[in-house]
Amino acid sequence: MYINGNWASAPAESEFEVLNPATGGVIKSLPDGGAEAARSAIAAAAEAFPAWRATTPYQRAEFLMRAHTLMLERQEELARVLTEEQGKPLRAAMTEVKYASDFLAWFAEEGKRVYGEIIPSARADQRFYVLHQPVGVVAAITPWNYPISMITRKLGPALAAGCTVVLKPAEATPLTAIETFKVFEDAGFPPGVVNLVTTAEPGPVGEEFTANPSVAKLTFTGSTAVGKMLAGKAAGNMKRVSCELGGHAPFIVLADADPVHAAKGLQLVKFLNTGQACISPNRIFVHRDILDSFLETLTGRVAAMKAGNGMEQGITIGPLVNDAAVAKVENQVRDAVAKGAKVMCGGERLTDGALGQGHFFAPTVLNNVSPEMLIYREETFGPVAAVVPFDNDDDVLAMANDTNYGLAAYIYSQNLTKAMRLFEGLEFGIIGVNDINPASAAAPFGGMKDSGLGREGSREGIHEYLETKVGGFSI
Ligand code: NAP
Repeated sequence: MYINGNWASAPAESEFEVLNPATGGVIKSLPDGGAEAARSAIAAAAEAFPAWRATTPYQRAEFLMRAHTLMLERQEELARVLTEEQGKPLRAAMTEVKYASDFLAWFAEEGKRVYGEIIPSARADQRFYVLHQPVGVVAAITPWNYPISMITRKLGPALAAGCTVVLKPAEATPLTAIETFKVFEDAGFPPGVVNLVTTAEPGPVGEEFTANPSVAKLTFTGSTAVGKMLAGKAAGNMKRVSCELGGHAPFIVLADADPVHAAKGLQLVKFLNTGQACISPNRIFVHRDILDSFLETLTGRVAAMKAGNGMEQGITIGPLVNDAAVAKVENQVRDAVAKGAKVMCGGERLTDGALGQGHFFAPTVLNNVSPEMLIYREETFGPVAAVVPFDNDDDVLAMANDTNYGLAAYIYSQNLTKAMRLFEGLEFGIIGVNDINPASAAAPFGGMKDSGLGREGSREGIHEYLETKVGGFSI
């Protein structure tokens, strides 16, 4: 743990093990800080806040840019730690580290553009002067699936805004968080500005984050169930809240789309991170006129994927995070098949040879998925492409919106009018139109409905960490 500029330990009996999901082996034991460490870290952040908020955005940008440079210098080192504890192929981990560093550079600059306003008044003797100021101490909770970029997407804007931070990373991926905090330490952030608490029991830390009066804001990325619970508690204490939660992305392929191009795109985005992404397509709506061609391309490409330890050359798909994740995917596939879905490829756990030690599920394509199936409603978070054939382009908007989630959606069409109508009608926060990567540090990321509150990245992201103050001046 990193508290008030020092690396802190905990009693040996309260340590927890970090496991490699590809081999099942123990990588390291770490201190379990619990509520007490969270309290110390919050106190350190509260003490550091007045001096940090008093720095100029130009000074804060220098710290952030030093961290950005260090992160890129250590890109491979960080990626190796990430792959070992999280599982994604090393190349994908390198890409994630680069994406993570983008948030530091973006918000270093964005901090300089937190403009106020002067508003004319109806009274001749009055001026309104609007100022944005940092909210205060930020408590951040991040998930294991993108263990470095989810940290910088929160800490970049919070630090640029002038807030101090306490982070609790996911239990499965604390080693990447530790390496990231070494970057912050080496970038020279003053003691108490960034603090890290590791734990295997998130409950008590969550209680502290939502109850401690020194915390001004909670920022959370993870499941909808935990996000709702924490947001409820934080709201009870009038803390500011942002939540990036689960998704159930529709991927719509209209009759006029190029089915081969769409299938190639789907394969790339669906199996990214073994399907463990909040923006992963979960319902793939394909017009029946082009279904055969779409499925042929998709199945061919998916069947050619190579599962294994992400550290090895040529591996294109890694393990799932743990056995419970494999069991969930297995259950969704079993349920879908029992209700009439057809397995085009994959469909089962992978246990051959070394794969048996880890948590592997074969990359899978299911056809004829329908609304009664679990996979049609529940987030899969695994390597299963669930294809839902449809007959009429006019029906697909309602089908796509028929979910409590509203994070990402994808449209494939060569008809601009149809694509634009869908873009405007879809109740989702992030939409790719003939595009599988509608995310960047420069673009707002976040969801509607049960997928969350607030936006990260972009010029909006920094406002999640700012209060608005107005002054009425009589002159
Ligand atoms: P999760 O179980 O909600 O965990 C997320 C984080 O919350 C972890 O750090 C976890 O700690 C912590 N946590 C769990 N219970 C808690 C409690 N009672 N109090 C305080 N903290 C608690 O979600 P996950 O399974 O790790 O992540 C997958 C989910 O995240 C998916 O639904 C995915 O869609 C979503 N996600 C969303 C985005 C987005 O930007 N919208 C991005 C990535 C992931 P432990 O690790 O110790 O359990």
